[in-house]
Amino acid sequence: MVGTSRFALNAYELVNEIKNGSISVEDYIASMFERIRKMDERINAYITLNEHALEEARIVDKALKGYTEWKGYSNGNGNGNSSILLGVPLAVKDNISTQGIRTTCASKMLEDYVPVYDATVVKRLKDAGAIVIGKTNMDEFGMGSTTEFSAFGVTHNPWAYERVAGGSSGGSAAALASCMAGIALGSDTGGSVRCPASFCSIYGLKPTYGLLSRYGLISYANSLECIGLMARSVLDLALMLKVTAGSDMQNDHTSIDADTSLSLDPESISPDIKGMRFATIREVVESEGIDEPVRDSMLDAISSVEQLGAIVEEVSIPSLRYALASYYTIAMAEASSNLARYDGIRYGYTEEPDGVAWNEFYSTIRGNFGSEVKRRIMLGTYVLSSGYYGRYYMKAQKARALIRDDMLKVLKDYDAIMMPTMPILPPRIGERVSDPLRLYNIDVCTVLANLAGVPALSIPYSMYNGLPIGVQFMARHLDEPLLLRIAYALESARCDKVRRCII
Ligand code: GLN
Repeated sequence: MVGTSRFALNAYELVNEIKNGSISVEDYIASMFERIRKMDERINAYITLNEHALEEARIVDKALKGYTEWKGYSNGNGNGNSSILLGVPLAVKDNISTQGIRTTCASKMLEDYVPVYDATVVKRLKDAGAIVIGKTNMDEFGMGSTTEFSAFGVTHNPWAYERVAGGSSGGSAAALASCMAGIALGSDTGGSVRCPASFCSIYGLKPTYGLLSRYGLISYANSLECIGLMARSVLDLALMLKVTAGSDMQNDHTSIDADTSLSLDPESISPDIKGMRFATIREVVESEGIDEPVRDSMLDAISSVEQLGAIVEEVSIPSLRYALASYYTIAMAEASSNLARYDGIRYGYTEEPDGVAWNEFYSTIRGNFGSEVKRRIMLGTYVLSSGYYGRYYMKAQKARALIRDDMLKVLKDYDAIMMPTMPILPPRIGERVSDPLRLYNIDVCTVLANLAGVPALSIPYSMYNGLPIGVQFMARHLDEPLLLRIAYALESARCDKVRRCII
């Protein structure tokens, strides 16, 4: 297969072409680098490219020719999922550790940081044959929804360059939508995988909390965040999930024990959703902050799933009005504590103390954080401080418990909750960034799954004037297979209506 169209192949298709010898991995990776060099000047999806990718591609080619048995190139002991992603270029968000490749969190604070180990999820994907092609742009430390808070410049939306790609995993989503990667990793603390997935017309899965190991993910707010999976097809997502899910107890104590985790066979996902019951939420449907095209797309999605045999009913969850306040209070509190380690002594950017007092030194070093990160550290410290702890942090935790219980109650009666992923179309660059509250408000539909720890999937659903709109489903803990089924049903029904990349 020649020409640019091969970059648009889904990962499972690419693996077939590679295995039957139609595509050489070295050649493929080399020409993808060329494509990135040409296109990424305008998009800015990547912060760092992997210098060893070609070497790794050669190892895969050699194994394919039968000279050597494929054992994984990361350290020669691939796991049982070996070769299901053989040769697929993987884009990794720059807050996920990659051995020997700079990992900056899009922050000046970690500009020169090169991890000595791979995150568990990266290691598992590499052992299945994926090749890390580069590290992608993001909001600094994952704090934002537009990738405008990156120390490495904004990422442009491949569908409309003057608009944002979403955030905080904007680089990963833009790389997939512009065929500069085959699959991608992001992280999702309050929507950072689903928001850019929706704005760039790809799939973004935030798994059940604990299903994917967080070992190697640089922390922003531990109790909320997960590594998330991004792809251009449902089957690709299923393959990624099969490879990455499962226990990693010795490295991450919040990781779910393998015995209880889901059994998932990508081959057997069915597009049948007949008889499934979905709930829409009155408070979301009636909310004023939802753009008209998004509302129309949502109504259309409801009738699509009804035509496929699902039942959709509206329910009310009044506690959801506390979701944003609860999320931001908890996220900032955890951020203030997590980011305390970047003091120039233990971690992060540093310089010679030069005889200055320790507090002056400390302030100079921490001045290297961007303005949004500083804002969150200050607010987070405030809500945890004595005298305010009960009034803000404790209250936020109580609201979180209420929201979680209410959502789980609804999920007892319904298979999934359905709502838009983002309430607005991708904004123009600069449009929201100066007003933090307006920016935080656009996370209203995504933070719910993080507060409750349940899985959520953003599905590319429609386009309005060339701008992508996603629809989101949330399910019970560990019900990822059900989410994939819904997505597969919609993908099959709408394959001629939704584009997932620009070539
Ligand atoms: N936009 C949200 C925030 O800024 C979510 C970010 C994320 O999921 N990492 O906190």
